[in-house]
Amino acid sequence: MPAESELRRLRVGSGFDLHPLSTDPGRRFVLAGVEVALSHGPMGHSDGDVVSHAIADAVLGAAGLGGIGDHFPASDPALAGADSVKLLARCVRMVTDAGFEILNADATVILQAPRLAPYRSAMEAKMTAVLGAPTCVKAKSPEGVGPLGKAEAVICTASLLLLAPRP
Ligand SMILES: [Zn+2]
Repeated sequence: MPAESELRRLRVGSGFDLHPLSTDPGRRFVLAGVEVALSHGPMGHSDGDVVSHAIADAVLGAAGLGGIGDHFPASDPALAGADSVKLLARCVRMVTDAGFEILNADATVILQAPRLAPYRSAMEAKMTAVLGAPTCVKAKSPEGVGPLGKAEAVICTASLLLLAPRP
């Protein structure tokens, strides 16, 4: 059992992201840095990778550094079509430079189709490499309910644990 002073260094973060799905057949669909076979992808200023965005919000939030929009505003033309894994890596660097250690992360994608099981290990490997900590990426079906069930949007939620630097 760690000493109480060590437990007090734990910081939890949470993240959420939603992108509408575009009907533009030319739009790539990227989740956790992995291209998924779907005829159209998420609308968004960057590549619209909801997993990278939700985890970035969780890592920044756990460190008390706000959210991804505070550091990478959607209005910034330099971010058009940006690779979100690179944005996530920059958020990770901000947090580790401040002395925090990432312990683990857990993300859930809610998407009607396609099934993400074939992509899961590649997504987890990519996120684990970027975070330098074990990362789980799960998928849930919205069971046909509402706009998510009609494949009009994709959602991701994420939780993440940090160890703060010693005071
Ligand atoms: Zn996003």
